[in-house]
Amino acid sequence: MTTTDAAHETLAFHGGPKSIAADHEDLFHWPIVTPEDEQAVIDVLRAGSMSGTGITIEFENQFASWIGREYAQGYPNGTMALLAAFYAAGVRRGDEVICPSMTYWASAMPVLQLGGTLVFADNDPDTLCIDPADIEHRITDRTKAIVPVHYLGHPCDMDAICTIAQKHNIAVVEDVSHAQGGLYKGRKVGTFGQIAAMSLMASKSFAVGEAGILVTDDRQMLETAVSFANYARHNALLTNETLKSHSGIPLGGCKGRMNQICAAMGLVQLKYYDDRIAEIQKAMNRFWDLLEGCPGIRAHRTPPGSGSTMGGWYCARGLYVAQELGGLPIEQFCEAVRAEGLTDCMPGANYPLHLHPVFNDADIFGDGKPTRIAFSDRDLRQPAGSLPHAEAVPHRIFWVPWFKHDRADVIEQYAAAYRKVANAAGRLL
Ligand SMILES: *Cc1c(COP(=O)(O)O)cnc(C)c1O
Repeated sequence: MTTTDAAHETLAFHGGPKSIAADHEDLFHWPIVTPEDEQAVIDVLRAGSMSGTGITIEFENQFASWIGREYAQGYPNGTMALLAAFYAAGVRRGDEVICPSMTYWASAMPVLQLGGTLVFADNDPDTLCIDPADIEHRITDRTKAIVPVHYLGHPCDMDAICTIAQKHNIAVVEDVSHAQGGLYKGRKVGTFGQIAAMSLMASKSFAVGEAGILVTDDRQMLETAVSFANYARHNALLTNETLKSHSGIPLGGCKGRMNQICAAMGLVQLKYYDDRIAEIQKAMNRFWDLLEGCPGIRAHRTPPGSGSTMGGWYCARGLYVAQELGGLPIEQFCEAVRAEGLTDCMPGANYPLHLHPVFNDADIFGDGKPTRIAFSDRDLRQPAGSLPHAEAVPHRIFWVPWFKHDRADVIEQYAAAYRKVANAAGRLL
């Protein structure tokens, strides 16, 4: 069907035929689980070592060499991996960490648990990642770390971020939860900061159930992270005399051992991950190529030929330009797309963290003041209007299908549905 034909079609919203009538669940199903994954899990159950460490250490070693770092340490989830990473990066009471406001809460909350606090930065309106130009003026003598989150698969501008961090001697803790396998200028994300942590939970791109992992080349950071939330099994690994003397009791008072069943699945997933995300890459780029030039819609992706990629395209989204559609509100645009049979099409992704009450008035630990400022010498809370791009994101991005297979005929139907709605925007106003 040509664009001109589509323009004259009646929207499903107005009683016309739906663009997508069939169920394409097989195209979206994730993670891909084969009998090999099943067998790996059964082997753990039968070996009677569900709480052991052998398979987890094997997974850590293979994950580290896959991503290109010296060491990896597994955790029960990404939140815990980030907590241990912040601790290893030296975040302590009163320290400040610069984090994008537009991210999942677990990029930020572990800092409060360590007695530190957050200074939120705005995002670039197009990449949706932390804007390097909004970082430096937020650095104080209490700033300990910057957390670049490779948001919705898009790599952060690591050259600019690392330059700022080096100049001010602060750590870079990458959150790779959305972007495992993604490249920044040809090099894997998760290899730029002194330490990187990520989720491997069931809906992420690298998915093994409930798990997280951190990676680093820094032996001291690894040992500090291990000492924080692991004990017994890793005592042999410690070389630092002080940490060694504390071994047996985790310094963080929490147990962060990764489940062996997830580790076993991780070993199998790792074998196929690069091929699977290459297929996603093809499919998603096909979808966006079909929508090039469509009014009101822009791809959220890295420029072709830049050497940067979107990894597994976790939680794929598109950018919405209402002005090109006569100011049609994004909610109405999405409603019309849903009527075409794309029932998951909603605006937004995460809530801007700087506006959330937990970062403004929650007194989590009973200090008699909001935890965000309990150990600060100034009120660093950021009111509405202070981070305009982050505040705009919920109204500027919308769901697009996250294809796992490159099936041209079906992808064309989905792209045509968006084009149909965009072309008919005038009739929706
Ligand atoms: C999912 C996620 C996490 C937390 O991971 P869990 O495994 O759910 O604890 C951290 N950061 C980001 C950006 C995430 O999306």
